Amino acid sequence: MSDPIKYVLDESRIPKNWYNIMADFPTPPAPPLHPGTGQPVGPEALEPIFPKVLIQQEMSGERWIEIPKPVREVYKQWRPSPLYRARRLERALDTPARIYYKYEGVSPSGSHKPNTAVPQAYYNAEAGIKRISTETGAGQWGSSLAFAGALFGIEIRVFMVRISFEQKPYRKALMQAFGATCVASPSEETEIGRKMRELYPGTTGSLGIAISEAMEVAAKDPGTNYSLGSVLNHVCLHQTVVGLEAIEQFELANDYPDIVIACAGGGSNFAGLAFPFLGAQLRGGKKVRVIAVEPAACPSLTKGKFAYDFGDTGQFTPLLKMFTLGSSFVPPGFHAGGLRYHAMSPLVSHAQSLGLTEAKAYHQTACFEAGVQFARTEGIMPAPEATHAIRCAIDEALRCKQEGTSQAIVFNLSGHGHFDMSAYTDYFEGKLVDVAYDAEGIRKSLDKLPHVA
Ligand SMILES: *Cc1c(COP(=O)(O)O)cnc(C)c1O
Repeated sequence: MSDPIKYVLDESRIPKNWYNIMADFPTPPAPPLHPGTGQPVGPEALEPIFPKVLIQQEMSGERWIEIPKPVREVYKQWRPSPLYRARRLERALDTPARIYYKYEGVSPSGSHKPNTAVPQAYYNAEAGIKRISTETGAGQWGSSLAFAGALFGIEIRVFMVRISFEQKPYRKALMQAFGATCVASPSEETEIGRKMRELYPGTTGSLGIAISEAMEVAAKDPGTNYSLGSVLNHVCLHQTVVGLEAIEQFELANDYPDIVIACAGGGSNFAGLAFPFLGAQLRGGKKVRVIAVEPAACPSLTKGKFAYDFGDTGQFTPLLKMFTLGSSFVPPGFHAGGLRYHAMSPLVSHAQSLGLTEAKAYHQTACFEAGVQFARTEGIMPAPEATHAIRCAIDEALRCKQEGTSQAIVFNLSGHGHFDMSAYTDYFEGKLVDVAYDAEGIRKSLDKLPHVA
């Protein structure tokens, strides 16, 4: 009998609850603060832009939060997602390690992002909201929310980071196909957009700026809410379906990971896979090594400061305690657009500060090399973001080979790269260069961190 390469669960096994790591942290994370008063923000501060249920989830300490039935119905289209055993990659590496990957590219937009886009659109629709404005980096989030908006009858307006708007025209077409509108950020449509264009002529844009534009639109129009595709607690919460399914799939495989790996931009796909395993560990289960992988050109966890900062460039958000490069830092235009965020989710940052997780940074050419090796063995074109996780998984598997140890490694294959082929074209033509991290730019940006008593 041949060894299985895929562990699938039927749709009745879609988790009934999301997992909230707040319930299991040994010490609670620092609360979000109001930038004016320096006091913790109450739920009412967020009500102009978020529906009440999402604000409750953002602040909840409950371990399990029920997934509404209509959300589970939509999840059925692609969930539970498969857990693969990468046997051909293992053979190519000649490693004794057992490599697994959870494949989130099977969703309608090709990434993990619909896991939170669907409940966010659902809760907004339940609250009577008709329009949502949002930002997008590589276009993954914009197209995911566009899909979810189409299902629940919500108009979606997307501010897309300019460099991606230019590099990834098909993502824009996908958003349009789902019925959303998409503009390049910084745009002429908002005050902050116009200000940024004046301050930095020809800027490639950044997630921090696009977030400010989308928030400005939502704050000025009572009928429009705002939605964020990563970073926040409720987003990490929704993504835990990934890790909860993986735990059941490891039971099918009669195995359990020693190492859990994911790429980290704002931290949501990392949290989604890792938090359920970390939670099990915190409740007395097996200890796992958990590694967040970030781009060397935007290294918030490995080179940033753990401090209160704004989540956006326009400084509209509450102050969040997180690993940050400073909200005025504009990351260089490398190809993993989804990883170009100046900071890291407060929950992921808290886990890192407690020593529960590790972080690594890689340059993009080493990541594309790993992505191509993965495609040639496993037959899936990974998203540029996901190649960071693959690079790290391969390096850990090679370490196992050197040490002669057999460990189980699982990584999140957060999305496919079918809309990112121009990046691969650049790689094959030798045009992809490694961008050193801008130490001086980061230092200047960190100098401008807000002062908190
Ligand atoms: C958006 C995105 C990421 C990065 O976002 P996180 O919130 O850090 O998960 C990673 N991979 C893919 C495919 C993405 O679309």
